[in-house]
Amino acid sequence: MTTPGPLSLVPFISVDAMMRLVAETGVERFLAELAAYIEADFRRWPLFDKTPRVAAHAADGSIELMPTSDGALYAFKYVNGHPKNTREGRQTVCAFGMLADVATGYPLLLTEMTILTALRTAATSAMAAKYLAPKGAATMAIIGNGAQCEFQALAFKALLGIKAVRLYDIDSAATRKAARNLSLAGLSVTACRSAEEAVLGAEIVTTATADKARARILTDNMIGLGVHINAIGGDCPGKTELDPAILGRADVFVEYPPQTRIEGEIQQMPADFPVTELWRVVCGEAPGRGDAAAITLFDSVGFAIEDFAALRYLRDRIGADAARLDLVADPDDPRDLYGMLLRSGVAAAA
Ligand code: NAD
Repeated sequence: MTTPGPLSLVPFISVDAMMRLVAETGVERFLAELAAYIEADFRRWPLFDKTPRVAAHAADGSIELMPTSDGALYAFKYVNGHPKNTREGRQTVCAFGMLADVATGYPLLLTEMTILTALRTAATSAMAAKYLAPKGAATMAIIGNGAQCEFQALAFKALLGIKAVRLYDIDSAATRKAARNLSLAGLSVTACRSAEEAVLGAEIVTTATADKARARILTDNMIGLGVHINAIGGDCPGKTELDPAILGRADVFVEYPPQTRIEGEIQQMPADFPVTELWRVVCGEAPGRGDAAAITLFDSVGFAIEDFAALRYLRDRIGADAARLDLVADPDDPRDLYGMLLRSGVAAAA
């Protein structure tokens, strides 16, 4: 639990501190605990403030702000998506974010969220799959073996008991990297030479590619009855992964329709294309997987409530020894902000 400090000193989780916390916890336990927080907030879905994220789009990528509040806590995340970045040695996705107290507006936590986003995306994917994937699924395919890949595999292992992973990426170096990392995690790993080969025998297919294009990572003939598709890479306008014919055959589940209709796979479909909100399934208000032959699709774009839940989890996990940032100006007399500056000597020359 967090030990309260001076309000002006805000707990700060650096990349290094995040890595230590995940290592101390164990990645799979972290993912399972995080998924429980996310599931709990999906159960409270109606009480959150919700808005499609505010996005600035450029030719090569997007920068997005993702805010939400449950009335007591407020959270936002800054996140980008620049598929070309990896060619220049940078992440496709980097992020940071903040949790704040609604009653005072004061920040409670500032944190790196690049690693946390990979963890929360994987935890959300696996949480959704608990309701949507065929029972007893043991094999998953992951197409796109970049930064998100291993987190996805480990979340499905932790929450669903996946035993085997079939990998494919257009860049075989990415597949070799993921296979090396995942072979240490007790999973049976198969590196495949095509997406068609990767999906063979997989009950769950995750697409996690990055390309700012209308891609066809999965074509209609590749998806048999009973498969669950977890599509995470189609997450901004003009960036999709699936043949629309698959959407026509699948039961489609989404986070927040006003955002997903702009950003998700369903941007390819008419505005009234039927979808089910995942929170309704989690609350027992709507069915998840209908029958064994159904094709289910989680058209994931990432929603602010998942980041809110991740920040809430982090707040409950950090200790009294967390680093603190002098982030909020805090004069003894709250109205004497200028006097504080004067006393510091900074404004003496004004
Ligand atoms: P990354 O750039 O690290 O990895 C993407 C991989 O996809 C690369 O290895 C690339 O070679 C591969 N790829 C590109 N085109 C391909 C194709 N046609 N077939 C097979 N592989 C292909 O990116 P990342 O951080 O792993 O993110 C993956 C995707 O997930 C991105 O599009 C990102 O925007 C998205 N994402 C979504 C969420 C969400 O909540 N839905 C969260 C995080 C990231």
